[in-house]
Amino acid sequence: MFDKLETLDDLFEMQLKDLYSAENQLVKALPKMASAAKDARLRQGFEKHLQETQNQVARLEQIGQALNLDLGGHTCKAMEGLIAEGQETMSERATDEVMDAALIAASQRIEHYEISGYGTAAHFAERLGYDEAANLLRQTLEEEQLTDTKLNDLAKSYINQKAM
Ligand code: FE
Ligand code: FE
Ligand code: FE
Repeated sequence: MFDKLETLDDLFEMQLKDLYSAENQLVKALPKMASAAKDARLRQGFEKHLQETQNQVARLEQIGQALNLDLGGHTCKAMEGLIAEGQETMSERATDEVMDAALIAASQRIEHYEISGYGTAAHFAERLGYDEAANLLRQTLEEEQLTDTKLNDLAKSYINQKAM
């Protein structure tokens, strides 16, 4: 838990811990989403984002080391909930096409949560003068945004059509 939240530095640390927990949860969840995906492009998308997510964990660790912060010991409850919803979806009996559309819906919720978290954290880092941290957080933010765009394209270009 956070015993003090008095400064923007404290709040920044809290945001980093939350992201660190969220990303580590996703490293475990993404392989399950990949194997639940029926469409090859969707499955490859999840696999690619798993690799990016592992790299995102490493970026956060790099920031933690540079700023002398221990990012462990916190659980992002929102990500727990989002992943639980995704797992609920995967346990349903659905046609292949509808399952893929549902997986996209679940993972876009996840990406939007991350986009919001990284946008805030990058802005705090800039405000606090942590230029290298801000740069790393912006790199991850761009990956999350690109992932969201690709999911959108897959859904709109043909998966939702097939699910109809
Ligand atoms: Fe991520
Ligand atoms: Fe959270
Ligand atoms: Fe992501």
